[in-house]
Amino acid sequence: MKAQRKELLEILSQCKDYLSFRRDMGLGFLPASFCNNPKPRRTGVSPVEVRSSSEEHIVSQKRPTLADVRRELGDCELCKLHKTRTNIVFGAGNEQAKLVFVGEGPGLDEDIQGEPFVGAAGQLLTRIIRAINLRREDVYICNIIKCRPPKNRNPEPDEIEACKPFVLKQLDVIRPRLICALGSVAAQALLETAAPIGILRGRFHSFRGVKLMPTYHPAYLLRNPAKKREVWEDMQMIQKEYQAL
Ligand code: SF4
Repeated sequence: MKAQRKELLEILSQCKDYLSFRRDMGLGFLPASFCNNPKPRRTGVSPVEVRSSSEEHIVSQKRPTLADVRRELGDCELCKLHKTRTNIVFGAGNEQAKLVFVGEGPGLDEDIQGEPFVGAAGQLLTRIIRAINLRREDVYICNIIKCRPPKNRNPEPDEIEACKPFVLKQLDVIRPRLICALGSVAAQALLETAAPIGILRGRFHSFRGVKLMPTYHPAYLLRNPAKKREVWEDMQMIQKEYQAL
């Protein structure tokens, strides 16, 4: 009888700990698994260990991931570009990257493959990244808009407004130390300015406390190779900052 009483008190104590844990986590109700099997584990088990798999999910979801942002994006139809796209081009690279490149939007090759910067401009970007002693796998690459504008026209303001929250969420997840905005569309959208890229480039700006370097878009460089020297100057500044991180 004495042993049974001791066991009952132990069970009640563990129930109390468990309910306190749920209260601390803001979980007001008992999970179905607990109701189906109300007997708590008896010995050597902390309250944390008896939580259900759904609670594990809640606890582990403190910080969103890029997969969460991609899931949220889904088959987005927030702007008219969804009607003409082949694939959404979300972004690619290292989720823990210290340096993120943000371009304008997908072109033909990117639209077909669903990957950012895979055409001729992408190959040039790869060479630029290599020139500062990094690999594409070291950085993250994405665009302001995720769907290709017809005939590669510039994104329109309503399209940028609809899509920009997703790139901001990507940056929130990655928390880079440096951002390189490729071209006027990306630089102007992130810095919320109408200043031309020729004025913006060549120095770091502050984007939510992160150093952001605007520079010319690789596609522009393909048409204007003389501008490569200025891009190289910008990239050397990025490299210097990167090495000091
Ligand atoms: S460009 Fe962005 S907002 Fe527009 S449909 Fe594509 S994913 Fe959605």
